Amino acid sequence: MDVTINHIRKEFARFPALNDVSLDIRSGELIALLGPSGSGKTTLLRLIAGLDQPTEGKILFGDEDASHRTVQERNVGFVFQSYALFRHMTVAENIAFGLKVRPSATRPPKAEIRKRVADLLDMVQLTGLDKRYPNQLSGGQRQRVALARAMAIEPRILLLDEPFGALDAKVRKELRRWLREFHDRTGHTTVFVTHDQEEALELADRVVVMSQGKIEQVGTADDVYDRPGSPFVFSFIGSSSELPVTLAGGGVRFNGRPIGIGAAGEGPVDGKARLFFRPQDVVLMDAADALSGKVTACRRLAGTRIAEIDISNGEAKGGKPHHVEIEVPLDAPVTLGADLSFRPTRWRLFFEG
Ligand code: ATP
Repeated sequence: MDVTINHIRKEFARFPALNDVSLDIRSGELIALLGPSGSGKTTLLRLIAGLDQPTEGKILFGDEDASHRTVQERNVGFVFQSYALFRHMTVAENIAFGLKVRPSATRPPKAEIRKRVADLLDMVQLTGLDKRYPNQLSGGQRQRVALARAMAIEPRILLLDEPFGALDAKVRKELRRWLREFHDRTGHTTVFVTHDQEEALELADRVVVMSQGKIEQVGTADDVYDRPGSPFVFSFIGSSSELPVTLAGGGVRFNGRPIGIGAAGEGPVDGKARLFFRPQDVVLMDAADALSGKVTACRRLAGTRIAEIDISNGEAKGGKPHHVEIEVPLDAPVTLGADLSFRPTRWRLFFEG
């Protein structure tokens, strides 16, 4: 089921939680909504589910305008943290719930409900636990029951709000892999909300990066990591350093001095810009036209070493100090207070004015 979100605005007491959001979700895609707290992820998911109505704009399911359809009419399955399992029902009763409450005309016969519950238990790998109550399950198992319950109604689209939020790191990782396999097997269109970028980049076909009620960028993990479209996405996804620079004749200068890189024919030849680069995209070099400064901290990060460098060189007296983070070879003799020079090998300039 394709889902089209068309110029959606959602206000809460005049506050725009979503502002002119448009997005095309293709049938069978696994989509992550990623963004900081308050960026509007849950609001967008609730609008797709039909739990809330947009202030402006439309949501289409296929060619059909679903904006004013109820949750039941939309036939979506969702797992929201606030909709926990029913504690007084067994696992099997929880999964069967959505079918049992249907009006008699559309309710499947009892035997068919039993079969569907058994199939779903098998699918979420919980066969044999059907008579347990939620408090007799682990967090990961409960989460899988919640998914089975959402799937029971054979939804056209599956919506998951922080599906692994409250779980420990190891279980999260396992469930992540499991959800990807589950999605590939069932082929459902799935949208999940997360503020964990690793989860979004690893799991999703496409990531929707949100900030302050707007979509900043939509793309694959490679797109948003390697080709961030805005300063926000560059600094939000992965590690990066940002510097205010000036352009003179197409060359990039920091604190008035050339740093050995150019604007590559993009944007204006002169003016102001923001330079972004990642810690691993630098090369150490002893050159006058490079960035340089003193090592203020150094830390081991798994297989790499990250040095923090103060590149203000005393020139920012009274102003803002400029610290950047760069990756240094594990065997490089980097000591606190030492001088280091380097150049970015990959970077992005965002022009101002
Ligand atoms: P989080 O990661 O913290 O869950 P989020 O990206 O999902 O955040 P939303 O829950 O969509 O963000 O909230 C977006 C904005 O809308 C926030 O500023 C929030 O305070 C506001 N908001 C959400 N729901 C309501 C509501 N029912 N009434 C008033 N304001 C709301």
